[in-house]
Amino acid sequence: MSGPPWLEDLEDGALETAATRLRAAAGRGDLAVVAAHVSPDGDALGGVLALHLGLRQLGLRTVPTVGESPLKIPAALAELAGVDDLLPPGALPPADEVDLLITVDAASPDRLGRVASYLEAEVPCLVLDHHATSTGFGDLRLVAPSAAATVQIVAELLRVLEVPFDRDLATCLYAGLVTDTGRFGYPGTDRSAMELAGELLEAGVPHAELTGRLFDTRSLGELKLLGHALQRLSFDPEVALVHTYVTHGELTGVGLGLEAVEAVIDVVRTADLAEVALVLKPAPDGAWKGSLRSRGRVDVSGVASRFGGGGHARAAGFTAEAEPDEIVREVVSLLSEA
Ligand code: 5GP
Ligand code: MN
Repeated sequence: MSGPPWLEDLEDGALETAATRLRAAAGRGDLAVVAAHVSPDGDALGGVLALHLGLRQLGLRTVPTVGESPLKIPAALAELAGVDDLLPPGALPPADEVDLLITVDAASPDRLGRVASYLEAEVPCLVLDHHATSTGFGDLRLVAPSAAATVQIVAELLRVLEVPFDRDLATCLYAGLVTDTGRFGYPGTDRSAMELAGELLEAGVPHAELTGRLFDTRSLGELKLLGHALQRLSFDPEVALVHTYVTHGELTGVGLGLEAVEAVIDVVRTADLAEVALVLKPAPDGAWKGSLRSRGRVDVSGVASRFGGGGHARAAGFTAEAEPDEIVREVVSLLSEA
């Protein structure tokens, strides 16, 4: 087998260069901070923890983190191996003690939250990502937009480093793969994704339990929140946009944080008449965080980037400082231009 087709996206020799540098760093006992994007999903967190578990075996000292505090880990991911090693930004080592920053699934420095300060301090940075909107930051970049999940790139790097996939590490990789392929249902799912899945199952991943936790388990609070959001669902036939929002009061009312709102877009986007779905959720300082999904005809990363956000053609996000109805008007107007 010639390897996954998305390898073509990488610069020639980049994977080997990264592996060589990591081996040398491990030989020196260097310290690496491995960071997921803020509000981490299965791909970001699974990738970070797989690298943490794998690179540690080589002798690298690794600190896994997410650049936000308090750290909000979705319940379905809380049992992944290595989660207890995650350090909040306030507990991270100072930049002059860090030899390398490794970022996972983050398209831009602002997605790294407080970890971005290492970039400002010019700590060398290895980027692993699959966003076409990646801004080009970092010193060595393993960025493959045609990879369905960043964990595929993580897996390939660990393979070059000859790190075996034990059950724990494989489970982290699988969490990313099953999340970002939408249980192997999104169009980016190809043979290489399924082959990796097969290999991970062989390593002992408890896939049914993990998939059940990720997709088929919701707290009563999340379901009630979903009820609020669905109650006020609106549809704009002109641009085939289905949209809704969740308020801060509704979140606190059910005792949940922002990470609980993820489920809403997954239900809202199933509206049969909708080409695009938008869910707004309250962000700090009175701003709103938008989640966009497309069935494929519209590239929603373009819409998100007009608000300063980004993402993929079919799934993107942004933060905006305006009222929900204003944001919806702006999205409708951008969609009618498209
Ligand atoms: P979600 O709607 O699940 O938060 O995000 C969907 C996709 O958009 C993910 O690929 C995520 O990385 C990306 N995304 C979400 N919010 C932002 C943002 O504020 N900026 C950028 N650049 N990407 C985002
Ligand atoms: Mn991803």
